[in-house]
Formats: sequence, structure tokens, C-alpha cells
Amino acid sequence: MWRLRGKLAVLAALLLPIGLAGPAQAVTGASAAAPPAPAPVHTRIDTDDPVLFITIDDGWDTESAAGAQKLLIDRQVPASLFLLPGAYQRDKDYFRTLLAHSPARVENHTVTHRDMTTLSAAEQRAEICGARDQQLAAFGDSPQLFRPAGGQDHNWPYYNDDTRTAATACGAKAVVTWTHDLTTWGPWTPPMPELRRGDVVLLHMGAQLEGDLRRVLAAADAAGLKPAKLREYVPGSS
Ligand SMILES: [Zn+2]
Repeated sequence: MWRLRGKLAVLAALLLPIGLAGPAQAVTGASAAAPPAPAPVHTRIDTDDPVLFITIDDGWDTESAAGAQKLLIDRQVPASLFLLPGAYQRDKDYFRTLLAHSPARVENHTVTHRDMTTLSAAEQRAEICGARDQQLAAFGDSPQLFRPAGGQDHNWPYYNDDTRTAATACGAKAVVTWTHDLTTWGPWTPPMPELRRGDVVLLHMGAQLEGDLRRVLAAADAAGLKPAKLREYVPGSS
């Protein structure tokens, strides 16, 4: 018995380097069935480059955002667009034009904008993987980043550990929230903070977007920061 075990151990040691040993295969099989690693969460990007990141959420009200589309194209802003399928289905051409003529990219913002923390792990996965599949079909590009929605009441925190695991399972390399929400909401324009390298700025589609973009681009310019592609600064995305 012991002698047999000894022989098996020697055999395993010989086979391990070429990956044929039984015990090693058993371990590999177990880890393949394990849940995926939770995606990292970024509220800003740690970088020494003089850059910041412009993100635009949701995608409603494109009718009044023609000026913003022109500005994004004219200035070649590498914006990350966290869009909802229900929004871009209404005006796919707006976003297709933007993707074709600027470095903007579409990212994942769930299917229905529900608060992730109210959903089961399976429901969260359906929201994130469903949005990915619809984006791939609509734009031919799979999202690499995930931004959880604020829910109806902007409950906090609007993600949990299941969200991070579901994000990885659905192909996202990171969960990206934001450093500053600089959206003009109604008559209220938020004060401009001191922008720093690595900041993630949140804006929203709509009539106010062109003005918000001009304000952020001018403040970035004054701070010596250039908008950069978020995907290029998140490890593992491309
Ligand atoms: Zn949103």
C-alpha cells in the first residue's frame, strides 16, 4: 500500500510538469467551477499621467443632444458611454455615428437600471450579461467596464459582492463608479471641483450635456489634464 502510494507520488511528480498528473487535474477542475474573482472597483484611476476620464450615463434624450455629439466628434473626446439598452434602442444612429467618428466606447450599465443591491446574484448576472449581449448585437463591441445604476432613489451603496462577481462573469474587467458627478440637474449646476489626475467625471446625456462637456473640458485644460480612454487605464481591458 505504502509502496504503491510512493510509486504513484513519483509518477505524479514526473507527470506534473506536463500537466497530466491526476491530482493536479482534480484541483484544476475544482477551481474552474469556483465563482469568478470579484471585479475591482474604481472610483478614480491611480495614474501618474496627466489625464482624466469622461463618462456619460444612460443615453436618454439624444434629440436635444446633437450639439454634444458634434462636440465629442470635433474634439475627439474618448468618452466612456454607460448606456441602457432601452435608451439606445430609441436612437441607435446617434451612438453609431459617435462610435464611428470619435474614440467614444459603449460600456455596461445594466438592462433596466435597477438597484443591484435589491437583486439576487442570479438577477444581477441577468442584468449585466443581458446588457452585454444587447450591446454586442447593437454595436459589435462587447463592453469591458460595468457601472451599477443608482436605482430609482439613488440608494447607496448600489453594488455588493455579488455585483462584482457577476461583473467578472459577464466579461467586465472592472466596476467603475465616479469621482465627481458634474451633471447639471435642472437649474442646478454643481460647482467645479479641483480636478486631479485619474479623476472619473460623470455626466449624463441630454440637453445640458453640451454645456457640461464644455465646462469640464475647459476645467481639465486649465488643470493640465487631457481626457483619456478609460479602457487603456483599467488592467485587463482593451
Ligand atoms: Zn444611470
